[in-house]
Amino acid sequence: TLELNPTSITPLDTPVGIYADIVFDRPLDHPYTYAVPAALAGKVGTGKRVEAPFGRGGRTTSGFCVRVGHNPPARGEVKDIARVLDDDALVDEHLMKLTRWMADYYLCGWGQVLHAVVPAGVRDNAGTRQATFVEPVAKAELPNPLPTITAVQKAALDCLKKENRPLELGQLARLAKCGPGVVASLVKKRLLKKFTERVESEAGGQHERAAEADDSPVSPPPDIQLNADQTAVWDKLNPILHAGGFHAFLLHGVTGSGKTEIYLRAIEEVVKQGKEAIVLVPEISLTPQTLERFRGRCGNVAVLHSHLTDAERGAYWRRVATGHVQVVVGARSAVFAPTRKLGLIVIDEEHETTFKQEATPRYHARDVAVMRARLEDIPIVMGSATPSLESWANAARGAYTLLELPKRVEDRPMPPVQVIDLRHEPKPQHGRPGAISPTLEAAMRSTLKAKGQVILMLNRRGFSTHVHCPGCGHVAQCAHCDLALTFHRTKAALVCHYCGWETAPYAKCPGCGQAAIRYQGLGTEKLHVEIEEKFPGSVCQRMDSDTMSKPGSHQRVLDAFRDGLVHILVGTQMIAKGLDFPNVTLVGVVNADVGLHLPDFRSAERTFQLLAQVAGRAGRGEKGGRVLVQTYTPEHPCITLAAGHDYATFAAQELVHRKQHKYPPYERMARLIVRSEKEEAAGAFADTLAGAFQSALATHARDSAGKPPPVRLLGPAECPVFRLKNFYRFHFQVQADSSAALHDVLRAALATARPPSGVEFQVDIDPYSM
Ligand code: ADP
Ligand code: ZN
Repeated sequence: TLELNPTSITPLDTPVGIYADIVFDRPLDHPYTYAVPAALAGKVGTGKRVEAPFGRGGRTTSGFCVRVGHNPPARGEVKDIARVLDDDALVDEHLMKLTRWMADYYLCGWGQVLHAVVPAGVRDNAGTRQATFVEPVAKAELPNPLPTITAVQKAALDCLKKENRPLELGQLARLAKCGPGVVASLVKKRLLKKFTERVESEAGGQHERAAEADDSPVSPPPDIQLNADQTAVWDKLNPILHAGGFHAFLLHGVTGSGKTEIYLRAIEEVVKQGKEAIVLVPEISLTPQTLERFRGRCGNVAVLHSHLTDAERGAYWRRVATGHVQVVVGARSAVFAPTRKLGLIVIDEEHETTFKQEATPRYHARDVAVMRARLEDIPIVMGSATPSLESWANAARGAYTLLELPKRVEDRPMPPVQVIDLRHEPKPQHGRPGAISPTLEAAMRSTLKAKGQVILMLNRRGFSTHVHCPGCGHVAQCAHCDLALTFHRTKAALVCHYCGWETAPYAKCPGCGQAAIRYQGLGTEKLHVEIEEKFPGSVCQRMDSDTMSKPGSHQRVLDAFRDGLVHILVGTQMIAKGLDFPNVTLVGVVNADVGLHLPDFRSAERTFQLLAQVAGRAGRGEKGGRVLVQTYTPEHPCITLAAGHDYATFAAQELVHRKQHKYPPYERMARLIVRSEKEEAAGAFADTLAGAFQSALATHARDSAGKPPPVRLLGPAECPVFRLKNFYRFHFQVQADSSAALHDVLRAALATARPPSGVEFQVDIDPYSM
């Protein structure tokens, strides 16, 4: 289904019409064909943007050209494209195919995908400007007789000849210490030629320089000899890197087993071959600590943070597209880096849910990366200590080659994990029981006394997470969402964690007027206060999205922790990932049950992953370390197996459960959400959609020779959180044996059901949020 015509058409002698297929940033499933006027025939081409009349009133809209050819549309009036916006294609043949696949797979418009993939800074040429250059006229073109020139004019001419390259008009005037009028008069006398070109503007230039600074080698490569396990892995990987061709590897290695060392060698290898590599990491891992390891060993490294400005993004995109970068390191969207000779894709922490984009196009960067590797016919290495069950199952059925690093480097042991049963903890001798049990408190004291450092994780922010009235049962709720508010003490506000709505804490219950409002439930803010009360001699720093909102704050805290200025680091899952501090000898999980009982079939998998990740922060140095996990459900397999560092058993058990309940990776799933600010309108359209599904399922049954369709529909039902940001929401879940069957039914149903105005729907293939 990938029919593409990547070449632009040059004007022909015979007046055969040229037509261009254009896609717009709309959820439309097919391109629109326009006629190309003769004047634009040489300029139009696939991967460039054009402006064409589209929609009401004949206004022009910009869209991407996806095909150029001689076939007029089958029917209807053909309009002309108005303008070609780009000199060069923004999207090459490979990315065209990849985005086309995404539109088909994720059921959205090709134009929407292209719009999302090409950064705004590239689309609007941010950070560039149109500049006028001058260069000497070739000898043959010199005017005859030569005009007479003044000494100042001669000096300017000589100056340009000495430079031996075109200069901007103003630049030459500055260098020759003359006015711009002098240069202009040389152009007028036809001794100099003028031309214009798009260049990086001052701001763009600064971004370029920032990017250059990134490239300077920070530290020389350490002299590391691969250990036996790493050598075994390398011996399987290296021949494929040499031979090239598509091959997917799943590198399963415990925390600190030397996975990154393997990535680095693989990247070095392809860079040596003159090719490029893309490294995808979760946003949170884009720390200088990680990046230093890539620089100096891998050529020019470009880093794509999510907080780059449009101009910076534009500058990076152009640098990559012009072959100035060997390695692109970035979060999710780096999977679309416009490399020219891609030789390898690496995905670290492939199980991370941040690789899933929660806006159209709702893609999963890992799955897109595997498709890109397939299309470009190159190897891909996905690594994790706790692979997603999707990837684990792919390895089990042989689609991916499993590579394993079962031990930490240098025979460092995995840290022992002790589970604390909160149901049976003794009450503290004095004071009220807090979040930190006596066992955990004692462990913290001895750790701090031995000059070790402590990481405490609680995956819930704020001060009190449950604000309610004991008199009438009223619970503080968001005005726009069906969600309870969390009390934030520093801000002195009740905050909705979904939409950000805030209100002042109640003096009296809004329900019954009683004054004794109760603030219960524990967040990181309250935990921080408890730590400061219990450990007045130690410095504690909190790290969550409330304290880390300013750029650079993340790094400042981590630097202080590394330098030993902070003794206890407390935070949400933000502190569970990637940190490598050898002096951390104790990791405490304050409540392992947060997130375990959510209405999401992945909640056990996520809890296991989080526990394994945070445990991996302990004992990374020679002093060793240990982990204490507090829980009310110590018998839960998720917790016992994480305590035993036993991923394989966890995965095997969880896969049995998934198979029984027909969940991914055994079945394919899609989720549809219908939403409207009017509850009735949302409900009515959900019913219409349900009808469309029923007939799609029926048609599908006939098509497959009378057999009942291998596709099931659940819903419509109210979403677990019915009202969000004032939208009432219904959802459907569609499950199918195969991706093909799932897509068939979805396409058929969605083709007939158009939402009325004021109602929207979203399709989420392979959904991660339930
Ligand atoms: P992972 O990515 O699996 O967490 P890393 O590659 O970051 O593991 O390795 C952990 C630490 O061990 C790093 O400091 C790394 O430099 C070091 N290391 C990696 N391989 C070796 C080796 N073969 N011998 C000694 N040290 C190693
Ligand atoms: Zn809200």
